[in-house]
Amino acid sequence: MSPKPSAFLRDSHETESFARALGLLCKGGERIALTGDLGAGKTTFVRGMSSGLGVPEEEISSPTFTVMHVHEPSDQKSGRCLVHVDAYRLEDPAELMELGWDEIVRDRRNVIVVEWPDRLGGALGENVLELELFHSSSSGGEVPGREIVFGSSLSSDLMNKLFTKCRGCGKQIHAGVGSFPFCGNKCRMADLGNWFDGSYSVSREIEEDDLFDPDLA
Ligand SMILES: [Zn+2]
Repeated sequence: MSPKPSAFLRDSHETESFARALGLLCKGGERIALTGDLGAGKTTFVRGMSSGLGVPEEEISSPTFTVMHVHEPSDQKSGRCLVHVDAYRLEDPAELMELGWDEIVRDRRNVIVVEWPDRLGGALGENVLELELFHSSSSGGEVPGREIVFGSSLSSDLMNKLFTKCRGCGKQIHAGVGSFPFCGNKCRMADLGNWFDGSYSVSREIEEDDLFDPDLA
């Protein structure tokens, strides 16, 4: 069996960016079971997904007092809604039915993200994308952060868009890295250098931000 896809997320910014990329890739109808340590970034993750789905981010909080929130996109063209479920306070999966669960699951516009998914019994059905966030540190141990692990293999489309090799040096990177699809500014700038002689791999013109990156000063 191949190892489960995973990514090391250095901070909440990378967590949010990674989740945003996932949100952008959701077509509607996805069911995501999100588990994780307290404070490992579940709310940040849902906020990132909302951004990718075009849902106003300020609406997203830890839904402590409400089991379920349906968030409509601010731009109807997005065509996808975020359904955020915090099943922690659910006494009985039958309560979901009273909230119109059957209809929510049937509506293909809905991307359903469930925290504490075990409390739902089998209500999420089949083809659930399982995600787990936990506190972790980088492989060398010197950078504290969190790790996200997928519970099963991903479609090749998701796999190729969330994980790639740095276009410069070939190092494995993920979509939460700010310099994606490069491992860092060094590789990105090297590639921009190639842009001048035509051997670049990112076919866009240089933007001002590229040239005035504080990390390179
Ligand atoms: Zn690189």
